[in-house]
Amino acid sequence: MSSGSAIRGSRVGSSPMRPDERTEPAPRREVTYFCSAGHISDILFAAEASPPETWDCPRCGQPAGLDGKNPPGRLRSEPYKSHLAYVKERRSDEDGAKILEEALAKVRQRRGRD
Ligand SMILES: [Zn+2]
Repeated sequence: MSSGSAIRGSRVGSSPMRPDERTEPAPRREVTYFCSAGHISDILFAAEASPPETWDCPRCGQPAGLDGKNPPGRLRSEPYKSHLAYVKERRSDEDGAKILEEALAKVRQRRGRD
């Protein structure tokens, strides 16, 4: 309410290429988003609007988040279990069980423990 005059005359709206697009004198703020690909994007929002938690990365289209240490979409670490579920979906349960057995044997072998 009280901070109206400070913004006037700043670099808002100095784009001579689009004369018909009127830029509002409304205050803006820059919000930095991080995507899982490591892109850092500064997005402008109206100061009154609360920025969304995620924003599509302008460079790769993946969801970007506010926390640079924990960008969204990074939970891609597919556990062994989900792969198995995928395999089971494509085959009969019997085959799935067989594959499960074989896979478990391999895992045991790799880990070198019973
Ligand atoms: Zn990106």
